[in-house]
Amino acid sequence: MAKDQRSFLRRNLLTILTVIGVVGGSVTGIILRNALGKWNKRDTMYLAFPGEIFLRMLKCLIIPLLMSSVIHAIGSLDLSLSRKIAFRSIFYYSATTVSAVILGMILVVTIRPGVGVKPMEASNEKYVTREVLTQDTLLDLIRNVFPPNIVQACVSQSQTYLIKPENASLPSNQTNHTIVKNLETWSFEERYESTTNVLGLVTFAIIFGIALGKLGERSKPLLDFFEAASEAMMIITNWVIWLSPLGVYFLVTAKVMEIESFLDLIGRLGLYFTTVLLGLAIHGFGTLSLIYFIAVRRLPFNVIAELSQVLVTAFGTASSSATMPITIQTMDKMGLDPRVTRFVIPIGATINMDGTALYEAVAAIFIAQLRDKPLTFGKTVAVCVTATAASIGAAGIPQAGLVTMVMVLDTVGLPSEDVINIIAVDWLLDRFRTTINVMCDCLGAKLVDILSAGELGDPVTSVDRVNAEPQELVELKHDSRI
Ligand code: ASP
Repeated sequence: MAKDQRSFLRRNLLTILTVIGVVGGSVTGIILRNALGKWNKRDTMYLAFPGEIFLRMLKCLIIPLLMSSVIHAIGSLDLSLSRKIAFRSIFYYSATTVSAVILGMILVVTIRPGVGVKPMEASNEKYVTREVLTQDTLLDLIRNVFPPNIVQACVSQSQTYLIKPENASLPSNQTNHTIVKNLETWSFEERYESTTNVLGLVTFAIIFGIALGKLGERSKPLLDFFEAASEAMMIITNWVIWLSPLGVYFLVTAKVMEIESFLDLIGRLGLYFTTVLLGLAIHGFGTLSLIYFIAVRRLPFNVIAELSQVLVTAFGTASSSATMPITIQTMDKMGLDPRVTRFVIPIGATINMDGTALYEAVAAIFIAQLRDKPLTFGKTVAVCVTATAASIGAAGIPQAGLVTMVMVLDTVGLPSEDVINIIAVDWLLDRFRTTINVMCDCLGAKLVDILSAGELGDPVTSVDRVNAEPQELVELKHDSRI
């Protein structure tokens, strides 16, 4: 084998193995399914077990990695720079999310995947959704930015639950889809859902970092502590990342064994599936590239190629949050300034979900087409706004977008039970949209890094430090402002 090929293989070994994991998992799943039929939940759980352990390891890294690296990165940045990075990131998140929703809307209105397709009747035992109001989702988001208790934020986040009134059953002559429930009249209560409040933790870490920056010299011991902690977490990430081929192999195999029907993919839902996929592809490689080009006058394709490991992991895990340690590690390896990545990636993984936003718009309009619901201009705009809100409110976990879909459906005047129409293919679309969600965050980090390069000065990355010999590390410490 030529030397070039050998070095290419060595550099990309992990990515190649992870791709083999995804493809191998799908093939094994299909073969096992054809030979043995659909498995029950318990058998699938056994099969998914190695993948579950991989996911647990990744999730376990999120809090210590996030807290230490965000506090250290922001603490070593001066306030005006933090403000500029924040402004650029928020501008980027907004521009990309809005363009994703508009693209989804144009595609679904032009292709009309739901016209002439028979809707499924909701059966409550199959899928029970939580009723939500758009305003509650937005208020919950703001509540979660300000957690009342930082320890509690590590394990739970606020969620408003609507309580169905006793007399809310449907009149006998009306079916689910002809009646719109007046959710505003339902009573509600604030509950804590057991999932990490990443947004609250990142906010706390940013504020704490800014305070440390203001303390000047006196904050040095703490900043050194967080720097060492963050580098130790990066080393552990480096170990865990080698389990990704095996982890995604088992996760994908088990998922294929568990799904309901392949026929929906090519039949009833084929056109819907294609519309979302087409939208994701145009957004990922067209719109995002254009925004990137306008901002930095370069095309991002070589950057996207360097992200392959991150993208395959996002596909395999269907979770932006679980992929985050690998995302941060890859960005460090690509030479981005950690002060930028620590800001853009965690916040992006929590609120910037372009793939989800596009999917929310397409899915809601698809269901409205199934139900023959007319779509006025006002409703179209309302769907765009709620789809954006739904994507911001969705957590970075598998199929979170399906849950927040309910509020987009409410905008079109459809009951939450109608999500039954898209469930069959959602597990697969989720993987594609998660990949685009993560890709958008990474391109954003690269773009902000390029735009901020002149102001940031010495671009020493954590990975330089992790790989440096002790003596080099001493020199780096003298040279760098980190
Ligand atoms: N699974 C997606 C993510 O983690 C969220 C979603 O669209 O369901 O980014």
